[in-house]
Amino acid sequence: MNIDHLGIHDSVSIVFPPERLRDALESVDPDVSIVGDDLDSVDAVVTFLHRDAFLDSVEWVHSIQAGYDRFPLDDFADAGVAFTNSSGIHGASVGEYAVGQMLALARRLHTFRDAQHEREWTRPDWDEPFTLFDERLTVVGLGALGQGIARRADGVGMRVTGVRRTPVKTPHTRAVYGPQDLHDAIADARFVALACPLTDDTEGLFGPDEFAAMRDDAYLVNVARGEVVQEDALVDALDAGELAGAALDVFEDEPLDSDSPLWDYEDVLVTPHAAAAERDYYEHIADLVRQNVLHANADEEFVNRVA
Ligand code: NAD
Repeated sequence: MNIDHLGIHDSVSIVFPPERLRDALESVDPDVSIVGDDLDSVDAVVTFLHRDAFLDSVEWVHSIQAGYDRFPLDDFADAGVAFTNSSGIHGASVGEYAVGQMLALARRLHTFRDAQHEREWTRPDWDEPFTLFDERLTVVGLGALGQGIARRADGVGMRVTGVRRTPVKTPHTRAVYGPQDLHDAIADARFVALACPLTDDTEGLFGPDEFAAMRDDAYLVNVARGEVVQEDALVDALDAGELAGAALDVFEDEPLDSDSPLWDYEDVLVTPHAAAAERDYYEHIADLVRQNVLHANADEEFVNRVA
């Protein structure tokens, strides 16, 4: 494969200014320019959104996200277009987000900010705050994201357990279960963090049975994809007192509808799919793209190739 002209699709502006990535890629051999849906002179494209036009126009597509559930992988394979993703760069950002949200819920930080907006001097009830130290966290999915969460949770003294497809010993965890033992893994956890990809196996993975299996004082953290959780069942579990709360970065439908009941619970923290946001994001993408341009032009295997 020979990449003479690399396009940065303007949809990356949803995450960072495309010019930043173009300038960071100045040192690569191919010409780099910002493109819209007209891809005539482009051999490869870096993008946030999928466009069917990619399948007829380019040889390689790089997604600036880790999740690839919104890209038609079979069509890429049929068209002979290589597809790479950005897995591996979100461990620190999403790890800090997850531990930050758990700290907020445990230390009641969100309630202080809410009270500040009302200019109210309100202390929590004596038995509301707790520490993360010695609390049990179960992380479902122990890839880049999950291990990033596990490492930081271990750092604040949480007892971390994991669930992954192949239940091998993983740093910063005390035990790792396979997917078939999910209920055992979550039964005793104060926090359950979802960090798996959206696949046929994980769609709707958390529903009434899983919420019933969790402790009544447990919190759900979802940084994976909204569809991994059955949102109606989550609302029912919160209403029934089967769960204490949640920190949700992703939703079945994004943006979250203004009528959604999830906005209204004091102990449900809603964020706009921004757990991975950080000012250096484009630098991490530039590193991956630079590496893969070299691989492509040397006819070597791509890093992070998914299709
Ligand atoms: P990764 O490929 O490095 O890791 C995925 C892990 O999930 C692997 O360990 C895999 O074995 C495990 N897994 C797969 N199926 C499973 C199952 N049924 N049960 C338990 N574990 C299972 O990917 P990553 O970079 O860690 O990202 C994971 C997902 O997180 C992405 O696919 C994406 O959807 C989501 N994500 C969200 C954000 C955000 O901003 N909220 C940012 C990055 C990634």
